[in-house]
Amino acid sequence: MLGFNDFCAVCGADFRDEDTGDGPAIFVIFIVGIFIVPMALGFHMILDPPFFVTFLIWGSVIIGASLGLLRLLRGLMFNVAWQRHAREVRLQDFEK
Ligand SMILES: [Zn+2]
Repeated sequence: MLGFNDFCAVCGADFRDEDTGDGPAIFVIFIVGIFIVPMALGFHMILDPPFFVTFLIWGSVIIGASLGLLRLLRGLMFNVAWQRHAREVRLQDFEK
């Protein structure tokens, strides 16, 4: 679900070296933590439901949003890196 294909189905570009690292996860943590967690806290404080109701509803929302955003942001970060021909810096790059 979160992985890339090895090759582009249209042009055959090689995606096997794709490596967005921890970047997408950091953005997901920020987005979910800033926007969704306060909504869950507000829901619980204002409506005062039993704890399991808050846990079930907002736990599902948080997990779903995290997975959805991770997929989206991983693709976005990969595309930005791809457009700019970004790659890992290696020692050989400095030995010319
Ligand atoms: Zn392509």
